Amino acid sequence: MYVLRRFPPRRTTRSFYRDADEAGSMPEEPAENISGGVEGGGRDLDGSDGGGAEGAVEGIPSGAPATRAEAVVDALGGIYWRKAYGGQDGFECLVRTILSQNTSDVASQPAHDSLMDRYGPASGLAGRLADADREELAETIASAGLYNRKSKVIQDAATWALAEFGSTAAFDEYVVEGDPAEVRETLLSVSGVGPKTADCVLLFAGGRGGVFPVDTHVHRIARRMGLAPPDADHEAVREAIEADVPPEKCGFGHTATIQFGREYCTARAPACLEGPEACPLYDLCDRVGIDEADGTVVDPADVTDVAGDD
Ligand code: SF4
Repeated sequence: MYVLRRFPPRRTTRSFYRDADEAGSMPEEPAENISGGVEGGGRDLDGSDGGGAEGAVEGIPSGAPATRAEAVVDALGGIYWRKAYGGQDGFECLVRTILSQNTSDVASQPAHDSLMDRYGPASGLAGRLADADREELAETIASAGLYNRKSKVIQDAATWALAEFGSTAAFDEYVVEGDPAEVRETLLSVSGVGPKTADCVLLFAGGRGGVFPVDTHVHRIARRMGLAPPDADHEAVREAIEADVPPEKCGFGHTATIQFGREYCTARAPACLEGPEACPLYDLCDRVGIDEADGTVVDPADVTDVAGDD
């Protein structure tokens, strides 16, 4: 059983876009994004939207967390939000997630908007993308980066969806109604669609519980905190977290972890290097790969003596 101390309200100014700044990209996050940020979609369950709300929420198990991973998600829910997801159009969600691969929301959201301006609406999207001129499609999504590869993946996925399901609507329905494990396997059979993309479609379009997509932030933070083995790959992290977090908390656990990874536990400058009080999850964290004494950070997989790390 884990007892949580009260956490401070979400900080809105402190290095919120540190990763973006370090990458030399735009410092502004779009209002809507695949990661479900403050205004990034989802149904706010308790009005906590960024305000540190506490207490019971209908549809979410209450009581003391049974695992450290659940305690972490509860804490993040208090710092950021407790939301439920689902309801996005399935094929559009697939396209949006493909665009987000290997880039930030800052870069992929404009590409999504341009794509929808040219080939939307969501209804019938697969048909229009399957028939699209490849060069024109690539040009349309250029801001997402890797646009030649992504345009091929998107067009191949559109062709596949039409061949397998007959229409965009039938694909969308399958994402919501199909057996989750089968839907996941089906999506993974599409060239260019990996576990994170499949899980995002299951979560944001299918509204499925128990799905905790693992992106680069979740992968890094789970291993730093000791919620998964230091050398765990993305799938092993997903399995570890989904085993330890109640299904109803996985969706907002995923999006809030991403927000936390941008704001506090960044790749190169985790907040705890400024002192224990700088990170609201300090007491729940093993800090694998973090040397607070000399201020260095390495990937948890590169740590040989995990037990002596903190
Ligand atoms: S204590 Fe450090 S490593 Fe752990 S979650 Fe906080 S910032 Fe990340």
